[in-house]
Amino acid sequence: MNETTRTFQEYLKANRLKLTSQRRLILDVFVSRGCRVTADELFKEVAELDDGISLSTVYRTVKHLLQSGLARCSHYGDGTTRYEPADGQTSHLVCEVCGRKVPIANPYLECMHAEAARQAGFRMLHCHVTIHGLCHECLTKHEN
Ligand SMILES: [Zn+2]
Repeated sequence: MNETTRTFQEYLKANRLKLTSQRRLILDVFVSRGCRVTADELFKEVAELDDGISLSTVYRTVKHLLQSGLARCSHYGDGTTRYEPADGQTSHLVCEVCGRKVPIANPYLECMHAEAARQAGFRMLHCHVTIHGLCHECLTKHEN
């Protein structure tokens, strides 16, 4: 399992979801293309490999890829949204007890940092924030 797949699996696990063979196929096709695609284009490609995949599965998986930081999207003037692989360098929540690392993608957070950088005459290339705390499971154990 490569780093990208692992990151996706960790994200899914943190959201109580499983890395199904369909989600994995969508991820693999998306990453191997390496360029900007619409959800429909991605659907056409994965449907050729697995005709059991629905368009809504592709849409939902793309949403998870965005939230896990493995994809970013651009909106075009013609109303289409295109997705491309990202490096997964998102911000993380880190549990101080069990060490679990949960990726969080918050576009507002990113905007705020880019704006703070801009005001200082700085052009932001990457931004990585780590929030330390207790994960849901450790918190539940702690309270009981
Ligand atoms: Zn924990």
